[in-house]
Amino acid sequence: MPELFHQPVAALADQLAAKKLSAVELMQAVIARTEAVESRVKAFNSFDAADALARARASDERRAAGQSRGPLDGIPVGLKDVISVAGQPLTASSKMLANFVSPYDATVTRKLKEAGAVCWGRLNLDEFAMGSSTENSAFKTTSNPWDLARVPGGSSGGSAAALAAGEACATLGSDTGGSIRQPAAFCNVVGMKPSYGLVSRYGLIAYASSLDQIGPFGRTVEDAAIVLGAIAGHDPLDSTSFKTEIPDYRAELSKRRGPWKLGVPKEYFGAGLDPEVGAAVQAAIDYYRKLGCEIKEVSLPHTQYAIATYYIIATAECSSNLARFDGIRYGHRSAKANDAIDIYFHSRAEGFGAEVKRRIILGTYVLSSGYYDAYYLRAQKVRTLIRQDFLNAYREVDAILTPTSPVPAFKIGEKSDPLAMYLLDIYTIGVNLAGLPGASIPCGFTRGGLPIGLQIIGRPFQEADLLAIAHAYEQGHAWHTQHPKL
Ligand code: GLN
Repeated sequence: MPELFHQPVAALADQLAAKKLSAVELMQAVIARTEAVESRVKAFNSFDAADALARARASDERRAAGQSRGPLDGIPVGLKDVISVAGQPLTASSKMLANFVSPYDATVTRKLKEAGAVCWGRLNLDEFAMGSSTENSAFKTTSNPWDLARVPGGSSGGSAAALAAGEACATLGSDTGGSIRQPAAFCNVVGMKPSYGLVSRYGLIAYASSLDQIGPFGRTVEDAAIVLGAIAGHDPLDSTSFKTEIPDYRAELSKRRGPWKLGVPKEYFGAGLDPEVGAAVQAAIDYYRKLGCEIKEVSLPHTQYAIATYYIIATAECSSNLARFDGIRYGHRSAKANDAIDIYFHSRAEGFGAEVKRRIILGTYVLSSGYYDAYYLRAQKVRTLIRQDFLNAYREVDAILTPTSPVPAFKIGEKSDPLAMYLLDIYTIGVNLAGLPGASIPCGFTRGGLPIGLQIIGRPFQEADLLAIAHAYEQGHAWHTQHPKL
């Protein structure tokens, strides 16, 4: 049996239910582990051990009274530091919000609490979720637990690294262009971005509202299914939240057995794909064939425009969303300021980091009169074509298999050019532009010992199928049982 802090939620829940383990013991083990490794991993912006232990104690009391709330009751779940937890800091890893405390719970936080989970810690990210490495955090760069000199991915790098390092039992991230799936791939954990509208965004600090979704990280597909089941569902507080039946994702894992028709998009296996990543993903595709699945080549012909389209739409939306951080309504207020214009100017100059400023400027430009039609409007049209590509493919296949990232985790400091960093999002951003569900699951390691992720992209709101397809692969492999040596 692995150490407590490396066990899946499903296994921990069984021990809690059988009273072989208490929530307080589990929380203590996770706190001790965090204290032992956090100085090297640097996944947390903050954590509140006293609050977590009090909530674990309450979970034990519920269980003793026969009122357990299910598999998440007493499980420490870490939250990316853009998801509100009442009374806890909420920084978005930005100086702008360095001293901000959430006045209320996000809907996902409320739902986790209702399921009995112990919300544990505020996890590091690229400032305002803009980036792919956590290097854009104003506070610290998180290290990849598999190689501390490398990035954990981003922007939810803290969420992936904390889970991989045993500093939480599951975590939540947000995914606007890959920010759950890419760090999951880099850190050998499961990460899932739900369909747009499945999970409420209420209480999530907005980056690009038409793309943002909150989703789970887990050690196994089953764990991701458990957490997704807890956070999914319609919410009147988010006007883009979708009314749909939420199946029991966990129970469906073993009920849906395929064989499935799986598509492999030729545009996702071209130049820039690391050969070791390509080989691992090819081996995963071959495994599905052995399971009896039909593998079909499909085409997503507008893939080549996805990066440009995403970086127009995402920056346009961010320039609007981040306007509220002006030193008056929200955020850091400069001491240098004398009048209102000065307050805006100095507060935003001091509060935002370089990447956030770059995107606000880009986004303001593509929305400005005279350029709006050429950039923003055209990008919206191409976005429709990209979605149509996927829907065309889904006439023939049930899901699509691709690499999650063209490369494994890179060295901290290695990608200094912003464009080089943007190009790494090539396989994940189409999913957000099309509003689809996508998951990354562990599918191997490079010769140098770095994790590799397989991306599975599903039909809109068919998360149950997507998770069952991922589970079928996981059942035949042991990659996810490997842990970094820290
Ligand atoms: N890397 C992408 C970006 O920088 C995606 C980030 C995200 O999904 N939050 O915008």
